Amino acid sequence: MRVTFATQPASPDRPNEDFIAATPDAVVLLDGAGTPAGSESGCSHGVAWYARTLGSKLIASLTQSAGSLTEILAEGIKATTSLHDFTCDVNHPGSPSATVVMLRRTGDDLEYLVLADSVLVLDVIGVDEPMVITDDREGQVGKRYRTAMDALGSGTPDHTAALREYVEAMRAHRNRDGGFWVASSDPLAAEQALTGAVPADQIRAAALLSDGASRPVDRFHLATWRQVLDILAQHGPSELIRQVRDAEHSDPAGKRWPRGKAFDDASAALASPLQPLQ
Ligand SMILES: [Zn+2]
Repeated sequence: MRVTFATQPASPDRPNEDFIAATPDAVVLLDGAGTPAGSESGCSHGVAWYARTLGSKLIASLTQSAGSLTEILAEGIKATTSLHDFTCDVNHPGSPSATVVMLRRTGDDLEYLVLADSVLVLDVIGVDEPMVITDDREGQVGKRYRTAMDALGSGTPDHTAALREYVEAMRAHRNRDGGFWVASSDPLAAEQALTGAVPADQIRAAALLSDGASRPVDRFHLATWRQVLDILAQHGPSELIRQVRDAEHSDPAGKRWPRGKAFDDASAALASPLQPLQ
């Protein structure tokens, strides 16, 4: 595959809690779920460490293992948990977690796995409307709790407190039936991921997006998935992130688009299974 990607933290003085990596045959993208200021997590390593460590294990396994993507993710969660279960309280409800998107070319197929609210967009040859794969269970649960936060302007102390309350309320629904599933310390979460395979020769390109990079479509409603695919193909992932930042800067207080984070870590990759002939 031909793969291009870019990732950028929400601000230069904070660690990037997204992780992205690729080989010629595989791409992984993770979006670590933040621990808001003043919130406990039971872990001394932090969210960026979790996303980086699990992501590194996944990309390594994808080059070495013929196992299913679900098995590779379950093994990765188990291995990452074993790196800190003797120093940290990995059963803490706020233990670091991450969304996961995995893409692998095997022979004639393109296999995918999507866990939680990062987005995979497949540009299917001969079809106008892209195929969009994302798990919105977290968003559905979140609707019950986000009214107070959304009513307050971003960047105010009240909003920071409301975000903390929102995240802590959501913890009660994390990795539970009827709630939502993310990669954290329970390998069983892998079985909740959306998975599938498509013939590689029917896919012009696949876009992997953290929710910081899918905002122009699913939160700001400034672009369609088709337009995002075109930006990625014609101008590259950095241009998509630049456009996200422009939109965020145009509404720093979250008045037009209420949101938990005024600025978010943003990551985008474009993988094209068909190599252009030289
Ligand atoms: Zn830890």
